[in-house]
Amino acid sequence: MKKDIMTKHTKIVATLGPASESIEVLEEMIRAGLNVARFNFSHGEYEWHEKVMQNVRTAAKNIGVPVAVLADLQGPRVRTHMNEELVIESGETINIFDVSLDEEEIKNIVQDTKVITLDCPKIIEQLSVGNDILIEDGLMKVNIVDITEKYAVADVIDGGVIKNHKGVNIPDARIPLPTITKKDYSDLEFALAHSVDFVALSFVRNGQDLVDLRSHMKKIIGDEMTLPRIVSKIECKEALNNLDNILGATDAIMIARGDLGIEADPSRITILEKDILKKAIKHLRPVIVATQMLASMEHNARPTRAEVADVTNAVVDHTDAVMLSGESSMGKFPVEAVRTMAQIASETEISPYDDIYDVMPLTFSSEEVKIAHATHDFSRELNASAIVIFSESGYTARLLSHFRPDQAIIVVTNNIKTYNQLALAWGIQSFLCVGEDSRDKCIDETIESARDRGLIHAQDLVITVLGSTKAGKKLTLTGTRVA
Ligand code: PGA
Ligand code: MN
Repeated sequence: MKKDIMTKHTKIVATLGPASESIEVLEEMIRAGLNVARFNFSHGEYEWHEKVMQNVRTAAKNIGVPVAVLADLQGPRVRTHMNEELVIESGETINIFDVSLDEEEIKNIVQDTKVITLDCPKIIEQLSVGNDILIEDGLMKVNIVDITEKYAVADVIDGGVIKNHKGVNIPDARIPLPTITKKDYSDLEFALAHSVDFVALSFVRNGQDLVDLRSHMKKIIGDEMTLPRIVSKIECKEALNNLDNILGATDAIMIARGDLGIEADPSRITILEKDILKKAIKHLRPVIVATQMLASMEHNARPTRAEVADVTNAVVDHTDAVMLSGESSMGKFPVEAVRTMAQIASETEISPYDDIYDVMPLTFSSEEVKIAHATHDFSRELNASAIVIFSESGYTARLLSHFRPDQAIIVVTNNIKTYNQLALAWGIQSFLCVGEDSRDKCIDETIESARDRGLIHAQDLVITVLGSTKAGKKLTLTGTRVA
């Protein structure tokens, strides 16, 4: 059996960076199980993104599997604005300014006190006594004890070195920036011009943010069938409070545990992860569990036991995908990190532990839902090896994936976007069939390709599903013995 590509059910998203920009490394990562390439628009130049997006597409083509491209927009992120590094020590009192005042004006107001400046104009007006401000992934923390018209006074709780352009979290303040910032709009323009498959938005606050993002993209692109799918990053309290309407308006979500673990109580992060996963699955929204999953592999060739437990836990909870950040973008072992993640996912999937939860009921029902459910039951009844479906938009395919069948879900589509976007959905192996009008022929070709790739074998029974055709809505279920 030819099995040089990892065919686990759980998908892997890897953030790209200097460690993973070459075609050679990308090919190795794809062989090891990479499904979605994440471009973080908080960093890097357009020139770099353009070159590496091309490399991803070349590598995916060389290997012959879909790899989706995800553009991750920074959103309303506050950062430090420092001319030079500043050491702050626990117990001392400092002043916080924002860029509404320039350096001279700030100097005239304070003489001896240390100053941290934030890059977000008018943020001082939003602060209250008692607010915590966390800097650089929560490494440093100050607490506000007084507010004047132009600045805030804060006690240093956890000291350290404040550097320029580091991320700042103020969990209890309303950040006076739109969810889609000016920078995001230009990054989005670049992303759309480069036909990305997914757009992720950081610090989403409510469903309206996603309605706005989608209508903006529609205006630029026009054609609904080629629109990128939206991934909402759940990473602030407001998003937790509005989770239902976010799930109603988004296509997928990312549990962005880095910021979420700062903005919410860090000791509840795994409980939140489980709650969010469950809700998203019921809404038929693919989920990515993100951040620090194999963090130690940035420097080491092997993960810690706790990291293995973290990935296993997410797979048991039926996440669609797990994500790598620094491990794959800057780490010493980008390929090994993907391989390790894929192996943990595979081992968990074949164990009984990822079967302990029943399929979660969906929040809605429809003819399509019932048909997908019936297809799942039918395939199980007949002990089929695979379900092969033709899907144009990918919707039927994602519905089937919801039921987590034991069978391989092999999807053939005539839409390149669907082909790539299904790379994020649990258990789906997608194939492309373009320039062929007959869906039957596409299915036949796909069965042959799937056999060549070792997904199915001669004499296996596969259930083929043909959805609506131009003639109208119809559905044909057939059992086929592979030649
Ligand atoms: P980031 O998002 O890496 O863009 O901050 C992920 C997270 O916050 O976990
Ligand atoms: Mn984040």
